[in-house]
Amino acid sequence: MKVSIEKDYYKILGVKKSDKTKDIKKRYRELARKHHPDTNEGSKKAEETFKRISEAYEVLGNAKKRKEYDKLRANGRRHPSGRSPGGRRNEGYTDPFDFGRQYTRQGPRESQQEPFSQPPFAEETVLDPNMPSRGFDLQFIVNVPFVVAALGGQIPYTYDKHVTCPECRGSGSNDYEDPCTECQGKQRVVETVTLDIDIPSGVADQYTLKFPRQGGAGRNGGPLGDLMAKVCIEKHPHFKKIKTDVHSVVTISPELAEEGGPLKIQMLDSTTTIHVEEGTLTGEEFRIPGAGSTQPWGKKRGDFVVKFQIDENAGK
Ligand SMILES: [Zn+2]
Repeated sequence: MKVSIEKDYYKILGVKKSDKTKDIKKRYRELARKHHPDTNEGSKKAEETFKRISEAYEVLGNAKKRKEYDKLRANGRRHPSGRSPGGRRNEGYTDPFDFGRQYTRQGPRESQQEPFSQPPFAEETVLDPNMPSRGFDLQFIVNVPFVVAALGGQIPYTYDKHVTCPECRGSGSNDYEDPCTECQGKQRVVETVTLDIDIPSGVADQYTLKFPRQGGAGRNGGPLGDLMAKVCIEKHPHFKKIKTDVHSVVTISPELAEEGGPLKIQMLDSTTTIHVEEGTLTGEEFRIPGAGSTQPWGKKRGDFVVKFQIDENAGK
């Protein structure tokens, strides 16, 4: 995944370095709603902004990535010249790729402090309004349950996008050549749709799946945009994936560990009964071949590995 220490993700989202993840999440939601391409009819800039805030949130919304980013940036800023490596810094600016500045090149300078206070999201300049234009590509982060990512499956995903206006069928006008009242002549309306997203078995975390023609509708007969869904695999309370093996820590009682015996365990999509050997120690493993995660885009599965942990309270 792309992390750019040149970019001030805090500034992009308009949050403070001390803000908690939940506040950052809240802020991101507000911004995402405001700058979603579908709610900013024809604005290329809104689309760019949407990508930018999504990128920033991807880092700041994840505790691990955020820590790493903070560390990298702190190091970059200690450079003697005050420049971060590779930065093309101009006088008076704190960050060459800062969001605010990108848009203040044509606009008032003060907006660089609060990038979203005066967003210059004017309508895209269209030379010929009758020219076919392609619909928006949409990018989303899709949370995928651990087991679905390991074995593949489908998850319904609901999102907003432009669809061709059903009233005028995309012509923008009614039978009397007046602007269509449903879409106000814009040919498209925003609709909430649900797509069953196919998750390939063994998909890697942060992998971007592309769904052609599932993005926004175009204008004047232009083609549909695409949908890009970045996979974010959810943590599982008991399982951990290591390559294609799935590890599970299972607590057993000291009696069972000493005498051995049958033990029912939960695997990815089924349960099974294994035999605990006599004299089992904490940390010992029991491997069930072919019951782990699928290889990416493959059929072969890794192993399911049970790691025993002896606990006085197990099974009580
Ligand atoms: Zn219409």
